Amino acid sequence: SSTTEEGNVSVVVRVRPPNQRELEGNHHPVVQVVDHNMLVFDPDEPETTGVFSSLRGTDGPKRKGKDMKFIFDRVFGENSRQQHVFEHTTKEILDGVLNGYNCSVFAYGATGAGKTHTMLGSEADPGVMYLTMVELYRRIEAIEEQKSCEVLISYLEVYNEQIQDLLEPRGSLAIREDPQKGVVVHGLSFHQPKSADQLLQMLASGNLNRTQHPTDANASSSRSHAVFQIYVKQQDRTASISQDVRVAKMSLIDLAGSERASTTNAKGERLREGANINRSLLALINVINALADAKSKKAHIPYRDSKLTRLLKDSIGGNCRTVMIAAISPSSLSYDDTYNTLKYANRAKEI
Ligand code: ADP
Ligand code: MG
Repeated sequence: SSTTEEGNVSVVVRVRPPNQRELEGNHHPVVQVVDHNMLVFDPDEPETTGVFSSLRGTDGPKRKGKDMKFIFDRVFGENSRQQHVFEHTTKEILDGVLNGYNCSVFAYGATGAGKTHTMLGSEADPGVMYLTMVELYRRIEAIEEQKSCEVLISYLEVYNEQIQDLLEPRGSLAIREDPQKGVVVHGLSFHQPKSADQLLQMLASGNLNRTQHPTDANASSSRSHAVFQIYVKQQDRTASISQDVRVAKMSLIDLAGSERASTTNAKGERLREGANINRSLLALINVINALADAKSKKAHIPYRDSKLTRLLKDSIGGNCRTVMIAAISPSSLSYDDTYNTLKYANRAKEI
């Protein structure tokens, strides 16, 4: 939910526009956006009115669907712009980062549902990662007289339980937990982009370093998690020598495709790792489920089960604000993926 009293996780859904293939075939839309908080999955097709319906002699809907209503903190329809999505997701948690709290933003969904478009976007239409940095620079400039701020970024991928620096690739990197600094990736490179444009270049070239499978590039990139982290260090200019230094980080994550993790999850039941299920994605789902359970009773949070959850241990749960952006296709071609993503997103709301 979006207010701190209700919890630290907000869940939003973004429906992408139908693509050429979905438009060409005779596929009906399975998602109906009702308003900015509600959508209906697989709505009943309304009864045809007029002469034909009386000829058919029926009074039920033309086609009966699951007709399930879902409520989220925000629902973005097919025509939503990047700026709008940004304004209702990360913009709201930037204050938290400037106040010293870590936070995380995930794009969750099946391959092709719009995760990368939302997080990274394109040069012509940059996404949440870029827009967040622009806003962060703007805010830092606004408080420049009171505070000196240093911003560093890193960009890595978790692929096949290995961590790889996307900005300076040099083999697999190890995670350490440092009592002072929190979670640290040993040997990860940090960068200080001079401008938002330079950042865009870095992200684009980093993305070219994402793991490519020799035979099927798309299948492999859909199995890797891209983690963009922004570290903000602030120091009060007015304070004396014993300074008040505040450090926080924001993690923006383009998750691996969820299509293989889509077994039905009964409440509280932990998903088990199957042949092809992405371990880090599964562990993240389990961590989020455990956090939802922990609301009522003290539960063990299984952060240690994967690289991704170890990496984000200090950024999910506790005082950390989290935004889950569930990306879905509107078409009947992706019926199961969309249904599974909505069910999962609905579950994440309970945290
Ligand atoms: P994913 O990263 O989830 O696999 P992508 O972000 O790569 O999916 O999206 C798949 C395709 O759909 C891409 O060609 C992308 O440009 C397009 N797309 C996704 N979301 C949108 C959107 N909101 N508006 C326009 N095009 C989109
Ligand atoms: Mg992608």
